[in-house]
Amino acid sequence: MRFDVLTLFPDMFEAVLGDSIIGRARENGLLELNFIQIRDFSTDKHRRVDDYPYGGGAGMLMAVQPIYDAYRSVTEGLGYKPLTIYLSPQGRVFDQPCAAELAQQTHIVLLCGHYEGVDQRVLDEIVDMELSIGDFVLTGGEIPAMAVIDAVARLVPGVLADASSYMGESHYHALLEYPQYTRPPEILGRSVPEILLSGHHANIEVWKRQQSLRVTYEKRPDLLKKAELSEMDLKYLKTLKCEEGEN
Ligand code: SAM
Repeated sequence: MRFDVLTLFPDMFEAVLGDSIIGRARENGLLELNFIQIRDFSTDKHRRVDDYPYGGGAGMLMAVQPIYDAYRSVTEGLGYKPLTIYLSPQGRVFDQPCAAELAQQTHIVLLCGHYEGVDQRVLDEIVDMELSIGDFVLTGGEIPAMAVIDAVARLVPGVLADASSYMGESHYHALLEYPQYTRPPEILGRSVPEILLSGHHANIEVWKRQQSLRVTYEKRPDLLKKAELSEMDLKYLKTLKCEEGEN
């Protein structure tokens, strides 16, 4: 899978996406990441990329020309239009289902805004989708772009050694993950739940499912509406509600 990131700060990316799982996926050829400096495409003699907004208003806007030419440098000669995403606080809020959808793509272009944002005309011309990483405003699209690349890339087949490592994770099935423990069996006066040491796999699976339901019920009850729940799940949730004195 290939990502091309159009940004004013390409150096920010390597520190985050150069090591660990994503770094290895790049080395193994599963993932190609290109960071394109928009400023290199400015035709202004001072390499300016921003200008004052028409109609007044605070701050500066990223202008059309350098972004469009940077984009064309990626798409020229491709013979297809890569899915082009503008990171924006106005976009669809990025979540795990969205990451899974994007992982089906083979080539994505990410546009990172800065300053007060981007001239609408270049967005209208090249952008297929706007994505937000939450209802707050950051100074630039670089951190959101890194979050999107990281979340999508780990769903690309082969990037994680074992697909089951993300299938049981929080949000994969709209539920949060159950609590996990590693050695030693006891530390700080706290023990690993007995069941996990029992070796009884069927019971352990039931425990994990129930804990997943419990954690979701306690931390993010809104997610339960989206989850596929069996009769057994519903029964267990009823016991949790009873524990709280609800009916
Ligand atoms: N004036 C813009 C608005 O009110 O919609 C906000 C501009 S913001 C200061 C600068 C850039 O940061 C945006 O162009 C966008 O690329 C990025 N950005 C800020 N918050 C974001 C968020 N929650 N999700 C994705 N990108 C964001």
